[in-house]
Amino acid sequence: MSKLSEIGERDIVASLIRKFDPKGNYSLGDDTGILDYGKDNLLITTDTITKKTHIPKDAEPEDIGWYVAAINLSDIAAMGGHPLGMLFSLGLPTSTSANWLDRLTDGIQECCSKHRVPVLGGDTKENDNITITGIALGTVPKNQTLRRCGARPGDILAVTGQIGRGILWERDKAISQYLKVEPRLKIGQQLAESGAVTSCIDISDGLSTSTHLLAEASNTGFQVEHESIPFVPGLNQKEKLLALHYGGDFELLFTIRPDKAEQILNQEFPDCPITQIGYVTDDISVSLVKDDASIPLENKGYEHFRGR
Ligand SMILES: [Mg+2]
Repeated sequence: MSKLSEIGERDIVASLIRKFDPKGNYSLGDDTGILDYGKDNLLITTDTITKKTHIPKDAEPEDIGWYVAAINLSDIAAMGGHPLGMLFSLGLPTSTSANWLDRLTDGIQECCSKHRVPVLGGDTKENDNITITGIALGTVPKNQTLRRCGARPGDILAVTGQIGRGILWERDKAISQYLKVEPRLKIGQQLAESGAVTSCIDISDGLSTSTHLLAEASNTGFQVEHESIPFVPGLNQKEKLLALHYGGDFELLFTIRPDKAEQILNQEFPDCPITQIGYVTDDISVSLVKDDASIPLENKGYEHFRGR
């Protein structure tokens, strides 16, 4: 019998989707689950962080609280959604100080208040490993729902903000900066309303992995132009290659219909810029164009259970 460490997160998730949604009725492969909610879709998502995997040593509890709220809201953003509310389940060691919990929940509250999201409830339990689960709910008009499966050959590939936050954590120990993820809710909603975006995902486990997920869901290929990627400032060439596979960017990666591309790429988005970084191809490979050569862009983002 195989161990989970031999199977890896991606195959585990694929087998769970086959089990719980064999006919593909519930959008289990997207950034959130989808339920029929009248003229809208109801979006529901959950994301867990643990001390072992996600929480850098020396992280401030306020930043951890912000992070767990933000990464859940990021999935609502990836669907073009408007958040309705959040819940949190906290598994904490009995030795945790009341002050630490107070500061953690200050961070949750700060992120939720900024995005006008009420906290609707949750749960607290003893757990030797700090384990914090967020649940986010949202809505999006049915005809504006952004999914991973709509990319078509000829579409433009674009990204919000900058890529490479994970390098800043590794190299500069910029822990607070790394954890202060900004969920791209406003721009996600604008993209959804535009009618120009054919697929979308948030980059949680690396640009390479997210591009592969769009490719698999849409049954298309992608060509990513390395020189066009908006990396965080100050990365050297080696770090720019590493940054393709680092988790933690939480930017939106999306495709735009070619006839609307100019309109979207020239539009001013107050929250952050968007940048064209490639296009959708009709073969099903994902490639990286660098120095006039095309090489495979391997799916090497972070994979849980394998620990890499
Ligand atoms: Mg996601």
